Amino acid sequence: MRLINNLKFIVDNNVGKLAKWLRIMGYDTLFFGGSNDSYMVSTALAEGRVILTRDTQIMKRRVVTSGRLKAILLKSDDPELQMQQVINSLSLDCQFRPFAICLECNQPLLERSREQVKDLVPPYVFQTQSQYMECPACHRIYWRGTHWQAMTKKLEKFQSSKQCK
Ligand SMILES: [Zn+2]
Repeated sequence: MRLINNLKFIVDNNVGKLAKWLRIMGYDTLFFGGSNDSYMVSTALAEGRVILTRDTQIMKRRVVTSGRLKAILLKSDDPELQMQQVINSLSLDCQFRPFAICLECNQPLLERSREQVKDLVPPYVFQTQSQYMECPACHRIYWRGTHWQAMTKKLEKFQSSKQCK
């Protein structure tokens, strides 16, 4: 499945909630759970990922100050404000692409027919939903449930507060 653009992210463990938000928007996003910053920086460089962090030390590194590596220092402790800052500072696409990436393992999702998921989802879901996606790695099935709807609504709210191109 095609992603909306080539932007990719790596989120530091101090802003881990952003991984889920960015994946909901369809961005390839790695969560960095370790404590070795050098490893995170080299992964970001090798894979062309933007670093999102609350760690001011990362911002002082030469690769970042020289502009070779893009990193965003998040100002707030609040994940929603963090997300808003990322959207604004990178002018993220207003037409985000939900339902493209597994929220748990960052794999591109594959479309599944209703019949294919019949025995895999609860009966009430099967009766009310027609669109399904499956993660090829963890085999989680996705559909537009209420939790998902609440998150996309919030994203739309973040985006309506900035100038869409
Ligand atoms: Zn998965």
